[in-house]
Amino acid sequence: MNDMPHPIPSETREGEGASGILTIDLGALGRNYDALAARLAPARAAAVVKADAYGLGAAKVAETLQARGCRDFFVALFVEAVRLKPALAADARLFVLNGLLPGNEAQAADLGLIPVLNSLEQVKRWSQTASARGRRLPAVLQFDTGMSRLGLPPEERAAARAAAENLDVLFVMSHLAAADEPDSVQNAGQLAEMRRVVEEFPGIELCFANSGGIFLGRDYHGVLARPGIALYGGAPTGGVANPMEPVVRLDVAVVQTRTVPAGARVGYSGTHVTGAETRLATIAAGYADGLLRSLSGRGAVYCDGVRLPIAGRVSMDSITVDVTALPEGRLTLGSLVEVIGPNQTLDDLAAAAGTISYEILTSLGGRYLRRYR
Ligand SMILES: *Cc1c(COP(=O)(O)O)cnc(C)c1O
Repeated sequence: MNDMPHPIPSETREGEGASGILTIDLGALGRNYDALAARLAPARAAAVVKADAYGLGAAKVAETLQARGCRDFFVALFVEAVRLKPALAADARLFVLNGLLPGNEAQAADLGLIPVLNSLEQVKRWSQTASARGRRLPAVLQFDTGMSRLGLPPEERAAARAAAENLDVLFVMSHLAAADEPDSVQNAGQLAEMRRVVEEFPGIELCFANSGGIFLGRDYHGVLARPGIALYGGAPTGGVANPMEPVVRLDVAVVQTRTVPAGARVGYSGTHVTGAETRLATIAAGYADGLLRSLSGRGAVYCDGVRLPIAGRVSMDSITVDVTALPEGRLTLGSLVEVIGPNQTLDDLAAAAGTISYEILTSLGGRYLRRYR
């Protein structure tokens, strides 16, 4: 991962015309899956591939993980399931976390999707679909144990069980609100709540942990875990070393270099004024490419391990960085700088932007060349 491509290989420019390269290491993705699966055993690891696998390409990610034995995939929305289904093996299961909106049930049943049912209304509608077809349909019942977001209130567990009579409930499920914070008292509270729900559903397995939950210990594993960010190399737990392998590397091309005198204004609204003669490079990615505007004046990119601070505001399509610390002439038109890589992890960049790795990954957009290794 340490070799800095420089400049953008000509076949890249000719083939795609892209000014940045998003390298997605499918080998690392697979090893992250294996590591999570090993930690979970005898519980199993599904893969959360919502939002196009956090921006990395759901079909490619699913294909890679299927080769590692993963057979359970979660998307958030019905539309994502419709798109991903053709890429999955015949024996793979595809779950829809948000459940179904009225009118989608028939198509979902035709496609063999497994909705996560979040309300009595969703349970009843899916049940009616099953009756209409004269067969049991598979489902997951989600209970809300502390996020007030999606899921049945635990008090409705008996009613849900009754309403699900002609469904095959594969799992009862809940989602942890603070799994990345091992010290949060909310974790144990949600686990206790979920144990009471499980008692109501004898013989039905628990689907509980996300990435962070996997690292909270066995109690949280249930039978099927739902990791997302850890697969993609993001840190599953805050404040400790990240045990996952990086999956994403991002290099962006320089489109202009210049030397400006002291007192020059840089970028929109002139928020940055140079204090001395400064060498600047403008790189061809901006907030439309997931380099969030909150990085203005505080983020950085890297070249040869040297930190190049962002000068002034992030624009939609470009960012100007101070390259005075590099030897003159090191960066020229088409040179690449590292945005995510060995010098700046995904989580480092997210922290500089005041956000989380999830938001960076899902914001990267469609203008980079995607290179899968
Ligand atoms: C997004 C999501 C996950 C995956 O979470 P990570 O923190 O990325 O592992 C798991 N379960 C649910 C319900 C989700 O919405």
